[in-house]
This record gives sequence, structure tokens and C-alpha cells, in this order.
Amino acid sequence: MNANNFPSGAFRDLRQWLTHLTSTGRLAVIRDNVQLKHQLAAIAKRLDGRQAVFFPKPGGHAIPVISGFMSRRAWIAEAMAVKESELLSSFRRAAENPIPWHEVPGSEAACQQVVHHDIDLQAALPIPTHSEFDSGPYITAGLVIARNPVTGIQNVSINRIQVNAKDRMAILILPRHLHAFYQEAEAHGQPLHVAVVIGADPLTLLASQAITPIDHDELEIAGALHGAPLAVVKCLTSEVRVPANAEIVIEGRLLPGVREPEGPFGEFPKYYSAKENREVIAVDAITHRTSPIFHTIVPAEMEHLLLGSIPREATLLSHLQRSFSGVLDVHLSMGGVGRYHLHVKFRKRREGEAKNLILCAFGAHYDIKQVTVVDEDVDVHDPEQVEWAVATRFQADRDLIVISGAQGSVLDPSTTVGNEPANGEAPAAYLQGISAKMGLDATKPMSYQGHVFTKVRVPGEDTVDLEAEIMAGVSMDWTDMTQVTAEAKTAS
Ligand code: MN
Repeated sequence: MNANNFPSGAFRDLRQWLTHLTSTGRLAVIRDNVQLKHQLAAIAKRLDGRQAVFFPKPGGHAIPVISGFMSRRAWIAEAMAVKESELLSSFRRAAENPIPWHEVPGSEAACQQVVHHDIDLQAALPIPTHSEFDSGPYITAGLVIARNPVTGIQNVSINRIQVNAKDRMAILILPRHLHAFYQEAEAHGQPLHVAVVIGADPLTLLASQAITPIDHDELEIAGALHGAPLAVVKCLTSEVRVPANAEIVIEGRLLPGVREPEGPFGEFPKYYSAKENREVIAVDAITHRTSPIFHTIVPAEMEHLLLGSIPREATLLSHLQRSFSGVLDVHLSMGGVGRYHLHVKFRKRREGEAKNLILCAFGAHYDIKQVTVVDEDVDVHDPEQVEWAVATRFQADRDLIVISGAQGSVLDPSTTVGNEPANGEAPAAYLQGISAKMGLDATKPMSYQGHVFTKVRVPGEDTVDLEAEIMAGVSMDWTDMTQVTAEAKTAS
């Protein structure tokens, strides 16, 4: 047990974590027959960040759906058995010290207790349709695992996956590691075997979002977060290894030379991605536990934003500290959709240093659009404190940096210039993902006169023992304690 009274590495699978949430009043069980289209996501969205939601029989389906079990920063720290203030350093330590996985035979793998070769995705699994203009049902919490065709080393990522037919799905693959594997396979006219894992344990889910170089298997980071090798099993139809304790695994192949329409889909910036032709997975098998649980992430809600932002923050902190030892903490704000707006807590040593730091942060990830640097007396996790620093320590003509025409996020609608060309039209002036960068140096000057930049505080405000100061258990009419009442009583 650690200081938080959580046994380290206790949550080896999703079920143990859900049991823990239940025993601490953080899991809401919803009535049967909530509709898979919109209604399920609506309920999950309303409870996001408050309680995880469990739908025992959504749409009359025999398989239950869970959502929102990682929807608070404190819960994620709890799953990692660390204090919230140690979240980033602990994640970073795991990412830098991966533990190789341990393979178990299929007979010992919970995720292969039941096997389907005759595939009908929507009959087999309760796949929700989330947002108003989504094209249809989507798998939003599937860990997509594939092997590098050259090195054999695996990659894990979460990709949105649209159900196109009984045994076909279209997938969005951004130009990262999975994309590189697929390009390599496709160049040789070969399919790329993939597994889509649904209902992994909380730490494997988090590890999947680590920002690492290619050929760093995220399942080894999951092992490091658990403090023990992750048990994996070989897929039935490929060489891909998947977490043995997962709830559900869809085995399939990314087909070479095939594209099918995917979208529109409501994404993390709280806007829709347009319909486009995407890569296609042909499904070969579905395996699952005897009574599996299907996990869905409601797009753009806390679970979605935090799973992406915490591993990014860990990487950004490490990146910035390499050049600036005064960097103390970073935060990707939720208003900035956990991707675009970075707050940096900084112990400045020389004038001008904060501006260099801003430039370094822009280079760290192309999604970062705004960087605000504050002093060490400002909590970067509190947007109100950051705004206070900008309001009182920042002057736009001296402290603002704007860089035009840099690479940004293609999902940020404000980067769009012109109209998307129709089929066959020349792509005239249409641009997406070219973004301006804005840096705000909200640090106070190194030296100043008197108390110009001294933050007002009351001596003792941090150390008052309220429980001791408040007259506990006393319920007295306050009017009895006032002179005015006494006089009024005398008068009557
Ligand atoms: Mn990777």
C-alpha cells in the first residue's frame, strides 16, 4: 500500500477497476434498453467526470456497455497508485523504462474464451452511435494493435472505426506509426494484420496514448505502469499479440489498395470531421470473455480528452525540461481540448528566457497552438489562476509572440481557408491545418520596486485548521449571539 492507500498495480483488468469504482460510489448503473443510437451517449455525457456509467442491456443487447471510467485526472492517478502531482513524472518514468510483455497460451487468455468466425459486428457487439451528425455506429475505444512488417515490433493506438458492413470497418489512420506499417505492407500489395482490443485495463488504455518514437511497443509501457509484465496472447488469425485480460478482440486485416467512405464524425475539438475515403479493415474473427463488457468513449468528453492529454503532458514536460531546468509543471487545458493550449509553470532566471521557452514548446508538438508561461506561484491546472497571471503580468505589445503559417491540427476548424474542392475540381486555395501560433509571456519581471508584483496573501491562510476553528457540532441560532437581537428582545 502507498500513501494513498491504494495497493500498487492492483487493477490488473477492467473488472477490478470497475469493482473499485463501484465500492467508492463512482459507477452508475443505468436501466435496461437504453437506445444505442444517441441515448446511451447522452446519458454517459451528462455523467462524464462525475460517475462511470454501466448499461447492462443497451438496445436489448446481451453485452453491457461501460463509459467514462477514466474521466477525472484524480481517478487516473488513483489507477496508477500515485498522487495527482506525481502523475506526469510517473507516466514518464514508465515510458522511459518499458517492461517486455509475457505471453500466455490461448487456453489461459480470458479474451479468447468465446470465438466467433461467422462475423456480424452489430449482432455480436453493442456499438453505439454517438453524436448528432455521425455517419453511424463507431468503435471509439478500440486499441488498434499491429506489427511493424519490417521489425515485427508492435504499435498500439486508438483510432476511430466506423462499422461499414457485417464484417467490414473503415478506420481513420493519422500519419504516425500504424500508418507507416500500413504503407509498408500496402507497397508490397500485402494486407496488414490488426487487432482491435475493446475493454483493456485502465493503465493499458493510458499507455496506448504515450508519445514515443516508432518501434516502441506501448504494451511494454503498460507493463511498466503495472510494475509487472503485461500478459498477452497471440491472435487466432495472426501473429499480433493482445492483452490476455481484455474483454473483446476484433481480429482483421487492413486491406491494401482499398478505401471506403468514413464520416462525418464528431471529434475531440467538438466539431465534425468530414466524410472522406479511408482505409478498410476486413474482420476475420471476434473473440471475447464469456460475459464481456464493451467500452465506448464519448467523443470530446473528459475521458477522451484526458487519455490524450496526460501522456502528452508527460512528454512535453520532459521535452521542455531538457532545455529549461526552470520548467516545473505543464498543463494542456481542457478548454483547449487537451491538445491546443499549453500552460507552463516556470522559474525564470533571466529576462527573455520565457520567450525562448515558448519557441521550444511550439517545436514540441504541432498541435500546440497557444503557450502561456507563468511564474511558480501560479497553478497551471487552474484556468482562473492562469487568466489572473495574463491579466496582471502580461502586456500584448511586449509579451506576445505570433508566428504565422506553421503546421497545426487539421481538426482545428479555424485553420480552414477556402472551401473544400468538389470532385474533379482543382484544389485552388483550400488549406487545412496551417495555423498561427500564439505565445504569452505572463511572467513578472525579475526585479521590481516595492510590492508591485507581490501576490496578496493573508498570513496563515494555508495553514488554518478549519475543523479546529469551526465550533463543531454546535447548532445555535446565530441571532442569539448578536447584541442587536438582545436589544430587540428587551424592547419587546
Ligand atoms: Mn507508437
